[in-house]
Order: sequence, then structure tokens, then C-alpha cells
Amino acid sequence: MRPGALTVVLTRRCPSRCGFCPQGFEPRDMSAATLAAALRGLGPRLGRKPRIKLFGGEPLLKPGLVRRAVGLVRELGLAADFELGTSGCLLDARMARFLRERPEVEVVFGRSSPWLGRLPRTSLNFVIAPGERAPAVLRRLRSALALGLRSVNFLPAYFVTWSEAELTELRRCFAALARLLRGRPIAVKNLSRWGAVPLYNDGWCVDTDGRVYASNLILVRGAGPHAGPLRLGHVRRPARLRPMPRPTALEAVLRACFSAEALESTRRVDAELTEFIHAL
Ligand code: SF4
Repeated sequence: MRPGALTVVLTRRCPSRCGFCPQGFEPRDMSAATLAAALRGLGPRLGRKPRIKLFGGEPLLKPGLVRRAVGLVRELGLAADFELGTSGCLLDARMARFLRERPEVEVVFGRSSPWLGRLPRTSLNFVIAPGERAPAVLRRLRSALALGLRSVNFLPAYFVTWSEAELTELRRCFAALARLLRGRPIAVKNLSRWGAVPLYNDGWCVDTDGRVYASNLILVRGAGPHAGPLRLGHVRRPARLRPMPRPTALEAVLRACFSAEALESTRRVDAELTEFIHAL
């Protein structure tokens, strides 16, 4: 595996408690000094067009760090593309003004938001939960389209158990969504995404304390004691980072954190998602 992208965890806190979110939360934020060390030490090593994720928890709990990250990367002369992953609940007029002047930042909403059509670059992670019925899912997507949705990433809830009846309904949801999307100018981001494990991103992930890991999988509830094999080093010593581990190291963390049933359900919903995406 190659680093490819950089995920910066600005905070481990989140005021939302979305159903089926597999993350664990802690009262920890990144300092401005750690953020600067991460971007200065790792940014230039990401290649010509770095992809940097500003991540949490809820990164908009730290709006000053969001602005600092984007400004610092400009100062460093890196032609980076940013993703700001947020629920949107803390996005205010001041941050919106900042984002309108920074088209290099794509705001990736975790739920539908009135800001979807009001910022230069937005996208929606459209999560489908077990038991959700196709008409309700269609209503949600129609409402996001009315708000200005132009780019979407479909995600069935991962790492939870799905019954056979719920999987059947998920297939109905995908069939209905495919009919709704046909002929519309909507970018489906799943088509350009790949990772060694579902949902999480391969690549350098800097935790709030400056430790560097091989994936943001370390944010999963209960991952802490099992994260050792994914640890690559610290932003204070960027030249001494270990190479990326094999995908089996990521799979071992999943097995330690989730039940066999939840992992089997994840494999099955991921297969359904792949079939849906390729049929679009
Ligand atoms: S999905 Fe995002 S917004 Fe929701 S609880 Fe998890 S981290 Fe917070």
C-alpha cells in the first residue's frame, strides 16, 4: 500500500450521535502546532496533487484549524484538494464565506444540508440504515436533490448486522435509487473510490496527538488497543515513518473490533453496493 492521501483528525469529539456511526469519541483536539507539523512534514511527500481530508469527530468544532490547514497548504505551495467531512450542523455564515473563497475544499456532508447547493463544492454521504424502506430512502434523495445535490457517495450502514429481510429491502432501495438517478447529471463518487477495507481510507492518518497511522480505521470504537500494527510514527519525525503495512493488518483490527456477524453483513452489503454502482 502507498500513502496516497493524508487524513488529519482535527478532533476526536462530535456533538452528533448518528445511528450506526462506528467511531469512538474522546475529548481530544489537535493543537495548531501538531497540525502545522503534519502538513509541513507530510504534505510535500504526497505527490503532485495531494488529497487531504480534514476529519473528526466533527472538524467544524475547530473552525480555526480548518482555516489554518487550508491557508498553510497554500503557503506551502501545494496544489492540494481538500475534503472536509462534516455533519453540517456547525456550518455557519462565516465558514460558508471562507469556503466560497476556497474552491479547493470539497465539503462532504454526512447528512443532507441546506448548504448542499450553496457552496462551490459539496458532496453527500448518503447512508442507508438496516430496515429503512425504499419509499423513505427515495424521499430523502429527492429532498437532497431539491437542495442542490450534485455529487453523492452511497453507503449502506457498515459494521452492523443486517437480517435477510433488511438485505432484500436494501436491494429494493438500490433498484429504486437507480431508476431515480437515471439520466440525471449527478456524480456518484463510489465509482472513483477504493480502499483495503470498507468505509475507511488507506493512507497516512494523523491522530490528534500527532501519531501517524496507516488508515483512519484507528478511529473505530475500541480500536485503540489494536492499533499498534497500523502505527507508522509521529509527525515530529516525518522522515522516519515506517512503510504502509499489508491489508491484512487492517483486517485484523476489524476482526478485533466487530463481531463475525457484523463483518459478514458488511461483506454482503458491500457486495450489494458494488452491484448497484456498476449497474448505474
Ligand atoms: S457519522 Fe460523523 S457526525 Fe455522525 S456521529 Fe459519526 S463522526 Fe459524528
